[in-house]
Amino acid sequence: MKAAVLHEPGVPLPVENLDLEEPRQGEVSVDLVAAGVCHSDYHYIDGHIQPRSLPLVMGHEGAGIVSAVGPGVQSVNPGDSIIFSMDAMCGYCRNCTVGRPALCETYGRSATMPDGTTRFSRDGKPYYQSNGVGTFTERTVVPADSVVKVPDGSPLEKACLIGCAVITGVGSVVNRAKVEAGSTVAVFGCGGVGLNVIQGAVLASAARIIAVDKVDFKLTKAEEMGATHFVNPDKEDAAQRIIELTDGGADYAFEVVGFPAVLEQVFRSVRPGGTAVMVGVQPPDSKITIDAWDLLMDRSLIGAYHGAARPRVDFLWLLELYQQGRLKLDELITRYRPLDEINEAFDDMNKGVVARTVLTFNGG
Ligand SMILES: [Zn+2]
Ligand SMILES: [Zn+2]
Repeated sequence: MKAAVLHEPGVPLPVENLDLEEPRQGEVSVDLVAAGVCHSDYHYIDGHIQPRSLPLVMGHEGAGIVSAVGPGVQSVNPGDSIIFSMDAMCGYCRNCTVGRPALCETYGRSATMPDGTTRFSRDGKPYYQSNGVGTFTERTVVPADSVVKVPDGSPLEKACLIGCAVITGVGSVVNRAKVEAGSTVAVFGCGGVGLNVIQGAVLASAARIIAVDKVDFKLTKAEEMGATHFVNPDKEDAAQRIIELTDGGADYAFEVVGFPAVLEQVFRSVRPGGTAVMVGVQPPDSKITIDAWDLLMDRSLIGAYHGAARPRVDFLWLLELYQQGRLKLDELITRYRPLDEINEAFDDMNKGVVARTVLTFNGG
């Protein structure tokens, strides 16, 4: 089966024919229906994130149909519709037990199966899987603990976005920061995840939602998602403008870009008592400097990993909201492409002409 593979950063992804083993104990194979192309994927190519395991079957956001289950799997059956979670959840470690399965301590974040082996290979050489998933492929094998069963007939070509972009954005607002109704919210970076931070702020009944981005297309999308005010940091000091717009600083400000300098700005834009939330993936070993006096004034600086997702709960209510017309997914998808056009999808992303591209397959 075909898969888009990273061999080294800085090089377009070839689409290759790989061998894939059958699922072993506790694993499932899934035929992909759709996979979202996330900025984090591109970060492996541009070197912002250093891939530790190569070659790597790319992609961590997707949905499909279970094609086979290994011994011992009870949570899904062949034919079930699923959305991938990029964090496998064991269900019994401390973090899973206290309701933080995105931080599961049993699985951790690896590019292999839990035992360190891989199911993908070519000519006997192992191929790793991005975030332990790998969705830019016609078929993948993952632990059953990293798929979430959704109702038969769910619109998987849209629902695929729930596993990363939507939950990372909405979850950072409602699960992690717990934004209260009436709050002022600033969102730095209006790509796929940032637009969902905006969407989360709407769901939380935030009063003012200030979108910050350098790209006009993204500010237009931000308005479509529910942002009320717009700041272009190329034209004005974003933190200063937010302080003016909110009469002293935002209650909550989110960094959804992944750069230390932006995170510092985000912290500067919250009022005394406010909370700065880091959502973007920062380069490894990056450092920020904040004024300790600002922290003294009851400000908080927190991280939000994968929207503090509880995938088996959150994916289902998000899907239900979409079906009721209360969650926007269609607006997030600018175009569909086949797997072979993965590099064109990254080009579109870099030009800032798409919110999300979704790759489609013939799965199921
Ligand atoms: Zn992602
Ligand atoms: Zn766990």
